Amino acid sequence: MTVRVRFAPSPTGYLHIGGARTALYNWLYSKAVGGTFVLRIEDTDLERSKREYEELQKQDLKWLGIIHDEGPDKPNPKYGPYRQSERLDIYAKYAQQLIDKDLAYYDFTTDEELEAIKAKSEAEGGFAGHYQGKWKNPEMKAEALKKIAAGEKPAIRFRAPMKDFTLQDKVKGEVVYPADMVGDFVIMRSSGLPTYNYCCVVDDMLMEISHVIRGEDHLSNTVRQLMLYEAFKAKPPIFAHVSLLIGQDRQKLSKRHGATSVHLYKEEHYLPEALCNYLTLLGWSHPQETDIFEKNEIVSLFDLERFSAHSAIYDLVKLKWVNGQHLRKITNSDLVKELAAIVPAGHAFLSQSADWKEKCVDLLKQKVDFITEMIPMMDQLIFDEEIEMSDELKDILSWETTPKIISYISAEVGKLSESYASEAQLNTWSEFVKKDLGIKGKPLFMGLRAALTGKGHGPDLKHLIPLTPVSVLKKRAAKLGA
Ligand code: GLU
Repeated sequence: MTVRVRFAPSPTGYLHIGGARTALYNWLYSKAVGGTFVLRIEDTDLERSKREYEELQKQDLKWLGIIHDEGPDKPNPKYGPYRQSERLDIYAKYAQQLIDKDLAYYDFTTDEELEAIKAKSEAEGGFAGHYQGKWKNPEMKAEALKKIAAGEKPAIRFRAPMKDFTLQDKVKGEVVYPADMVGDFVIMRSSGLPTYNYCCVVDDMLMEISHVIRGEDHLSNTVRQLMLYEAFKAKPPIFAHVSLLIGQDRQKLSKRHGATSVHLYKEEHYLPEALCNYLTLLGWSHPQETDIFEKNEIVSLFDLERFSAHSAIYDLVKLKWVNGQHLRKITNSDLVKELAAIVPAGHAFLSQSADWKEKCVDLLKQKVDFITEMIPMMDQLIFDEEIEMSDELKDILSWETTPKIISYISAEVGKLSESYASEAQLNTWSEFVKKDLGIKGKPLFMGLRAALTGKGHGPDLKHLIPLTPVSVLKKRAAKLGA
């Protein structure tokens, strides 16, 4: 089977995190089976759709590495155009086919009349909300055509068959839609614009979409779509309705759960691979239960059988942790380049040697989840000359051994003419404190740390001290000794 999948966003806003997950699953599946990933723009809401949003969503997809094979900018003449607003003649043509077969009918009912019809059918115990107006009657077609000839514009309503529909969904299993679930529905508005369920089916059919992977919020739409496939005598695609993303409070994911637009994650320096990794896991599981991977690594493992039917809880803490894992996988030389691009102009980082920079990022990346966090961390650990009198530090300073270490270190750093102390130098100091001052164990390590860093805890001194400018060590020692 030739696999063709699609991501079909409406360009009415930024790319939502849930949309990104849908796009990712479709992309992964197309790559897993050597299929085609289509980008289709569902812009029939002419008022809310904006070309800028289409561009922004495309940029976000690109940032995530979710690249389409076909779309408005990569058309295949057999299937395009890829913007629904450019396919209106196609929708009209197919609606006409349904009219000709009496599977759909012209409807001139006004909104007010519709309300009255609904109220009446409810009062009579009919199917609440189902259209039962006069235009449903096939005999009304002649009158309808007269009105059209006179310039009136009807909606086109699909005649919903009164029978059960059954969907074999790849995620939800068997879903039965009872016969009375939906009544006749509008497929073309009087404005000439198609409705979502209708144009979605026409497009999926003509674009030969084999699999539709989308959020389960569309599950209730699918019955209308199945009806239309049947009317067109077309085989429906295989559907996989993936569970929705929810917040910790089990409510639908919204802004109060954190950023919901992909571009905000980009601005906050999340790594695209980390976001893809985390989104993949929200609804799909790795066969080896692996948590950390790049999307290219799972392409060969991705299938539709490992989707979870349960809602996926969006957990920012876990996402941040995943980001940290990916940050640690970046090579030091790449991290140096990226950090150099975001430190403020004139920052001390920029004027260090290449070796220093690599060692610095190697140390910092163990401590943070985001590259941006490296800057305050570096300022505080390496360049900060101030002594912050924490309770921990006060305690260490109160030990009778500590002043001895401070005065020794103060004298020693005062003698240094180099810009940085070496690890060997640190060992010499430590040996002296141990042997000549007779201070061992905790009082030695903590006292040395206090004297050199002005802090009660932090990274291993053997990594930290060779990165700290001697000028800073001198200032700290002077402040501690004062
Ligand atoms: N434009 C629809 C949406 O953004 C697409 C739904 C579908 O995948 O069929 O929700």
